Amino acid sequence: MKKFKEVIMPITNNKIPNIYENVKRQFDKAADLMGLDPNIRKILTKPKNEIRVNFPIKMDDGNVEMFTGYRVQHNNVLGPFKGGIRFHPMVNMDEVRALATWMTWKSAIANIPFGGAKGGVQIDPSKYSPSELEHITRRFTFALRQYIGPDYDIPAPDVNTNPQIMAWILDTYLSTIPPKERHCSIHVVTGKPIESGGSLGRNKATGQGVVICIEKWAKENGFDLDGVTYIVQGFGNVGSWAARLMKSHGAKLIAVEDITGAIYNQEGIDPDELTVFVKEHGGVKGYHGCKEIDHETFLSTKADIFIPAALENQITKETAPILNVKMVAEGANGPTDFMGDKMLQEKGIQIIPDILCNSGGVIVSYFEWLQNKRSESWELKEIDSKLHWKITRAYKRVHDKTEEFNTDWRTAAYIVALSRLEVVYKERGIFP
Ligand code: NAD
Repeated sequence: MKKFKEVIMPITNNKIPNIYENVKRQFDKAADLMGLDPNIRKILTKPKNEIRVNFPIKMDDGNVEMFTGYRVQHNNVLGPFKGGIRFHPMVNMDEVRALATWMTWKSAIANIPFGGAKGGVQIDPSKYSPSELEHITRRFTFALRQYIGPDYDIPAPDVNTNPQIMAWILDTYLSTIPPKERHCSIHVVTGKPIESGGSLGRNKATGQGVVICIEKWAKENGFDLDGVTYIVQGFGNVGSWAARLMKSHGAKLIAVEDITGAIYNQEGIDPDELTVFVKEHGGVKGYHGCKEIDHETFLSTKADIFIPAALENQITKETAPILNVKMVAEGANGPTDFMGDKMLQEKGIQIIPDILCNSGGVIVSYFEWLQNKRSESWELKEIDSKLHWKITRAYKRVHDKTEEFNTDWRTAAYIVALSRLEVVYKERGIFP
């Protein structure tokens, strides 16, 4: 274990590899294997628009601070740009580029009429008061107002953003457009609070999608989820919902890591109780009945399933050798880098890739967008069943490509997305 101490950096460390390089390597591998048209390859390797804004905010103490925000719009050939907004100190142009590109593939795999985008503000939100966060959100939205729109580019929640922040984005955007257009523009953002036009089921959708993928994998591999053990990294929206829904199958959560630390209990940790504890205490550290463990011990915990649901670049050439699980269900975007991926495959650990596994969020965002456009509100039962159908279909499309190309799941998922985009570009041609 000591050997790893020097090389395994907790994800708070700034020296993480560039994730956009990771996207390019994943893309090249799939494009080479499927023989993607070289001209379409050129188009898809560059984001369409990259927006960077600097804006001032008057803080609670009267001083002014400058902030930097980003929105990258990767591709909109299949429909409006779509993707979350993240508040995090490590947000930068390359990170947002990578996340926007993954959104294009994700929408294409899920077969929903969206393109890919992502945005973020480079801040540590824990350092700001609620009113400062509101001002940062509103001013960022104001700076982006001409680049987003209900049928053009639609933000959603991501790391450290939530329905309240979506409500501030909505309100700010609506305040900048003519009054007559306001009632028909609430689909400018998804993941809103229910009362402000949000959809039932959006909050749990990403975690729910992760668990649907795990169910499919378990069925195919003759695994009974009742009694399997799993570990979760990140206990926010995605991680906590995935953990809670795994509980309904009788699976046992034995270790959890978040920004405050990592906890372990071989007898099982109740995800519902832990969710309440995290809401009250801000993190998992100090949860009763558990042993506190370090980052390396968490990653090397023996379990059946690992659900990374925090940030990118967690499974790398340094950490892949110590993982002691049978499968990885990627709730986070980009938790496994190119070398980490290769090493897991060599170890026989199956990965359900992010662009399939966490697509439940964008699928239910699409349902929210449709409900807003049609002035409807759907029952939860209907949303659950539509999500199940959509993600199960996507899972099958990827599964079929693994067999057709005799390749891994991530490359197969890319092939599903790239094939769809290739057909559309060939049909439409390139202007002029
Ligand atoms: P969140 O802000 O709700 O939760 C993030 C979690 O990660 C928190 O528990 C936090 O403590 C933990 N975390 C942050 N830094 C950490 C660190 N250094 N070490 C360990 N844990 C750390 O965010 P979320 O919405 O749950 O997003 C998590 C991941 O899922 C991200 O990669 C995001 O892009 C992806 N994702 C989110 C959605 C969505 O609908 N929210 C959809 C698809 C993908």
